[in-house]
Amino acid sequence: MKLESLQAAESKLMLQTYERNPYLFTGGKGVYLHDESGVEYLDLLSGIGCSALGYGHPALEAAIIAQTKKLLHTSNLFFHEHTAELALRLTEISGLDRVFLCNSGTEAWEAALKLARAHAVMLREEGSSIGTKFIALEHSFHGRTMGSVSTTHKAKYREPFAPLIPSVDFVPINDVAALRAAFSSDHCAILLETVQGEGGIHPVSQEFFAAARELCDSTDALLIADEIQCGVGRTGKWFAYQHYNVLPDVTTLAKPIAGGIPMGALLCTEEAAKAFHPGMHGTTFGGNPLACAAAIAVLDTIKRDGILAHITEVGSYFIERLNTLARSQPTIKEVRGLGLMIGVELNDANLAGDIARELMERRIIINRTSDTVLRFLPPYILEKKHVDIAIEALTELLTQHQSALRETNTAVLAGGITHG
Ligand SMILES: *Cc1c(COP(=O)(O)O)cnc(C)c1O
Repeated sequence: MKLESLQAAESKLMLQTYERNPYLFTGGKGVYLHDESGVEYLDLLSGIGCSALGYGHPALEAAIIAQTKKLLHTSNLFFHEHTAELALRLTEISGLDRVFLCNSGTEAWEAALKLARAHAVMLREEGSSIGTKFIALEHSFHGRTMGSVSTTHKAKYREPFAPLIPSVDFVPINDVAALRAAFSSDHCAILLETVQGEGGIHPVSQEFFAAARELCDSTDALLIADEIQCGVGRTGKWFAYQHYNVLPDVTTLAKPIAGGIPMGALLCTEEAAKAFHPGMHGTTFGGNPLACAAAIAVLDTIKRDGILAHITEVGSYFIERLNTLARSQPTIKEVRGLGLMIGVELNDANLAGDIARELMERRIIINRTSDTVLRFLPPYILEKKHVDIAIEALTELLTQHQSALRETNTAVLAGGITHG
């Protein structure tokens, strides 16, 4: 009843930018969300990768409540007690030198694009002939603001807003020859997600990442790794690039960093950081005391509770069980993933939509991305017993669809014979 009245009100009052699923959550505990009548849902999506510590985590709640009582906001005109504390942690875990804090993924990405341009201008003033174009990857997703959509591949996100930044060349992911052919000193940066999220959970290959590093080094262009979805522990290391032993010049973070409080961050090398001077870039809210206190609590909890090792263990178990399932389910085309960032590609887009919806009906939250891919981004505190629940439901649903498909095929075949 309440859901229906909210749907009616939103349909009149809100810009219609979302096709929301018809569920209303009012609280949560651990890896479960619940609705107003207390019905629980196993959450394997964590608000698109944001609620990293699940719901009602005591350390995160305590940090947010304590900071709320103390001070919410002062702007970047002044110092506050948590900025340096957070920046120290981020530089220690990333191997990068400097930090810029903002409020969302797309803002972090805009900062990265502007830094790359400013860096190129700085090099040109020193006599370089480096250009201002970008190389980005096909099926990339970097956010919704103008610069971010300009470097995002999907036509649906780009075309309504043309003209965009004109100087972006797209190359296929993991095609080293295409990258080498496309790259020149006209480019100020190579842009990639270390693991593409929205595009269907596709990690870059070792060869591709290493080639991008080498090409950037050859012209002093910046290698910029978008880790907004795959960073801050999601893959079992603090940063997905740490699986490759490649250090980007710049990385961007957001989704899980403050456990559900909006926050974004850009991390970069000392050299890249030289391109920004006071006044060139900024944000009013960015890195405010509340968001910083939450982020510090998230990072300290991940470290204190050994959560990276936990993600590796539960993630491997999840992927192993999905691979076993794939051997008996011909509708599964491929299982891809790293840690607790997992995609299951099905043969058929309609089927993927149906499975995502039917799992919701069974009170298991996932989503479909890139048409045919079931996406799992569970809270980091997921346990093996939750994986078992998901696998059991998925097995039943895929088996049902498989036998329905077999019946349809038999009917078509029988029909064919009659008519023949
Ligand atoms: C979600 C996402 C963004 C955009 O983040 P917002 O906070 O929605 O602006 C950018 N890049 C990647 C890889 C993402 O997954």
